[in-house]
Parts: sequence; structure tokens; C-alpha cells
Amino acid sequence: MLVALALAGCSPSQGTTGDAPGTPSATADLVIFDGVVLTMDPAHPRAEAVAVAGDDRIIAVGSREEVLPLASRTASVIDLGGATLMPGFVDAHSHFFGRANAAGTDTAGVSEFILSLGITTTAELFVDEALFAELQRLNSSRRLGVRLSAYLAANNACGESLGDWWSAYSPTRQPGEMLRIGGVKVYADGGACNTPAASYEYLGGHGHGDLYFSVAELAGLVGRIDAAGHQVAVHALGDRAVETTLDALGQVIGSSGNPKRHRMEHSAATRPDLRARHGQIGAVVTLFGPYQTCFLTGKTGTFTFRTPAEYLEWEWPWRSLLEASPGAHFAWHADFPLFSSSSPIDALYGFVTRAQVALDGSVCAPSATMAAGAISVGEALSLMTTGAAYALFRETEVSRIAPGMLADFVVLSGDPTAVEPSRLVDLQVWMTMVGGHVAWCRGGHEAICPQT
Ligand SMILES: [Zn+2]
Repeated sequence: MLVALALAGCSPSQGTTGDAPGTPSATADLVIFDGVVLTMDPAHPRAEAVAVAGDDRIIAVGSREEVLPLASRTASVIDLGGATLMPGFVDAHSHFFGRANAAGTDTAGVSEFILSLGITTTAELFVDEALFAELQRLNSSRRLGVRLSAYLAANNACGESLGDWWSAYSPTRQPGEMLRIGGVKVYADGGACNTPAASYEYLGGHGHGDLYFSVAELAGLVGRIDAAGHQVAVHALGDRAVETTLDALGQVIGSSGNPKRHRMEHSAATRPDLRARHGQIGAVVTLFGPYQTCFLTGKTGTFTFRTPAEYLEWEWPWRSLLEASPGAHFAWHADFPLFSSSSPIDALYGFVTRAQVALDGSVCAPSATMAAGAISVGEALSLMTTGAAYALFRETEVSRIAPGMLADFVVLSGDPTAVEPSRLVDLQVWMTMVGGHVAWCRGGHEAICPQT
């Protein structure tokens, strides 16, 4: 079934393509066909072909027979040969540009790395004044190749206040903008600096961790950020920080339904009694994809803070958290450079199997307790597209293949909803497209990457 924009006047190329009268619909500048199209649009979850017009937006989604005739005479036509087309992955929280900026490397090359992962929209979750200036320079010189939401930092990972510099800015919600002021970031506990605040004692002499605020202090800061019109994203790793953040966000959100979409980052160690509270306040919650099975089973030692075995069930309990909080909005975050891989493919594999591939290529299998946190392919793909777009106020622009949405796509070697879960990790990104233009192409797959 064809779903298409009402074409009258919707495309700038209409009337200039020389099409004969009677074929006003042949206005697509790009048609992609013969694919498995996973739209992430619940009304029309699958299709075969997509048409894009010159304004970088999708104009039609349907079968090959329905969509191919929409191609203008000069249109690019991509035969996917049965490969899978999906919305570009949306990462709600990473540090790609900050990491490069701190390392003194060229931030302009960062976009290419992100695009090679299949990510077309991401967010920079620790932006200080210097990084903000750099991001604005990149954007104004059109060297920002991905859609990026900047979260201005109220404090740093060690809990030290950076002052109210963020209050000089307002969030931006311009449809289609590459650089967006997303909101304000607050660290409620340790992790990148110091130790996450848990109610149990970490193994190895790390104590109970570092909590940076009382409930009253955090509610005061969140209330000021909210009053300034900003979304707040609160980093909370340990269960004491998760509880404090839920209390503080709950005070500010009340029964409003969370219109500013205030966010909980990580909710990593979530006690059973805290799980339903995410949904009760309507929080947006970002979750890690790759599960640290190799670390937790003793194969490799990449994390510093080890949870005692009796509290392992509190660690990333995504299945239980999703079921306890149907009123919450869940999103995936790569949190680059936290993991050895920031690939959405590896995140999907982790979400669904809770297995992990070690550096030597062997598979670390999860215990029953670890595996209990797994979620379905469909749930994971939603977190990695529509869920993360909601967290970034971009769900009406990206994350679904539907008429009117921006043409941000990824081509995968296979259909993640059809392969064996254990083979999800073998999926490859073959091409990444932003706004209808090829932004990254895997070597050997040039045939599906027209020069545009
Ligand atoms: Zn982070």
C-alpha cells in the first residue's frame, strides 16, 4: 500500500522536470527499491520502496510498482538487491565531538566516523563553553555531517558546578536543523570521575560511591533549568543517584506529564522498588545497549566498579524496567567512548542476547540473571530510532520512514527482525544517507551509493 504526501505544491522540483501533463507525481529525485524497508512506522511497518524529493524529505513509501513511477527523468535510482533499509540510527547521548576536541584532533572528521556506524542523529551530552563554540563553528561552516543536539553542562563529571552559563541560551526546536541546543546536563553521581552512588558497597574498596546532591539541592537546580525552558538530562548510575534523581524530577514534573521531556541518563543500577517510578513521572530514560558480559563473567576487566553478585539483578534490568514503566519513554544511548564498540549493531546484539563478543572473537555467554534483562529486537530497534528521537525532540523529523520525514537512512546487509539473534552481531552497515544524500558508503558497495 502506498503512503504518500499530497503532492500538489509539496516539491520544489515539481513543474521543472519536464514531465508530461497528467504525471504530476513523477517528482522524486531519488527512488530506492527492491529492499526490505523497515519503516519504524507502526501504521505501515514494512515496504519495498521509498521516494525522496529534492527538499530532502520522503514523499512516498510503498511497493516497487507504486513508487518507481514517481522517479523524475533525472532521479537517482538505487536497487538495494534485497538489502534492508531502515531509518538512520538515533543515539540519544554520546561524547563523539567532545572526545575529539579534548584530544586536539580535528572535529570535522568526527562526523564520518559516526556515519560509518550508521548513526545519523546523535547528541553531545557534555558541552562546555569551549566545545559549544567549536560545534557552532562546525555547523556554520557546514562541516557537521550528522544531526547533533548539544546539552550544555551545569556541572562536570566530578560534580563541580560550571555556573549558570547555560541560562544565556534557549533550547532550539527548528525542524531539520543540524545543530540543536537540546538541553542542560547535570551529573548526580560519579562514574567517569569518582564512583557511582550505590546503596551496596562496590567490590575492590570503592565504598558506596559519590552522590553530588541532596534531593532538595537537585530539585532546586532542575527547577531552575526547567523554568529557563530547558530539558534537563540527569546522569544517574548507582541506585542512590537513581532514587535521588527520581525524587527531584518527580518534584519538578509533578503531574504535568513531563512536557519538557526531562531525562534520566543510564539508570544503570535500578533497585526493584525504583523501576515503576520512571513511568509514574513520565521520564525519558536512556539505556545502554552492549551488555558487559565479558567483564561480568570475568573474561575481561574493562569496568572499574564491580557490583557484588547478590545485586547483579539491579544491573541494567531493562526487561523488568520496560515492563514496570509503560509510561516512561525509553531511548538507546551509545555513550561513546564508554564501550569498546559504539556500533548500533553491537548495541542491538547486546540488548537482545546479552551476549558479548570478546576481543579474541569468542562469545561471552550471559548467566540466567544477566539474560533476564534482555529485550526483543522490536523493542531495541524502537529505542534506537523513535525512542531516541523522542528524547531529542526530533521524532517528527527523523527515526521513521514515512512521508514528510527527513530522508536519513541506513542500509544493512540483512533484516535484523529476520536473522537469528546470535547472528545480529554479523550485520553490516553498507550505506548511510542524511537528507537524501549518501553520507558514507562501505567499500565494495558503491553500486548502492550514487554520487549525489
Ligand atoms: Zn555520557
